[in-house]
Amino acid sequence: MPNPAPPQSSCSFCSRGEAQASFIVRGGRGAICSSCLEAAYAVLEDEREDLFEDGPPPIRGALAQVWVPDVEAALPLYQRLAGSDEIRRIRSDELDLARVGPFLLLTGSTEATAPYRDRVATLLVDDMDETRAALLDAGASLVEGPGDGLAGIHMIARHPDGAVFEYLQETS
Ligand SMILES: [Zn+2]
Repeated sequence: MPNPAPPQSSCSFCSRGEAQASFIVRGGRGAICSSCLEAAYAVLEDEREDLFEDGPPPIRGALAQVWVPDVEAALPLYQRLAGSDEIRRIRSDELDLARVGPFLLLTGSTEATAPYRDRVATLLVDDMDETRAALLDAGASLVEGPGDGLAGIHMIARHPDGAVFEYLQETS
């Protein structure tokens, strides 16, 4: 059996040897020196920046959607969990809604709320237009909106993976 090749002592990319580099990382079939690693890292960083520069401001927060039989009765527990007395309550003919901390409690007739029950969460955003553009760009489809909702500008989108989210830009 032939002997395995001796471990490579110079960089496979730039041929720097041990003496010219701070360190050399050896892999199974090659090696890379500290300078080439730095250059590769810089390329990755650039790509990351590009990815985020084009996008909307990041999600500000997420509200868990909790469908309950009675918002009023459910509130104390969620207030305790959220450690907050601050409740934003919104009622319409078809929907009773309370926000406390990271929870969005909802009560509504099954009929009226059927289209909304499959949402994963409500995501809070600062810029609905840019969020919409980024979602469409990624292959998402809009189920509803963007338009004025009870708590601000809202939009429901189905992501290309099938998950449905509500997006909300709150009115202050
Ligand atoms: Zn190198």
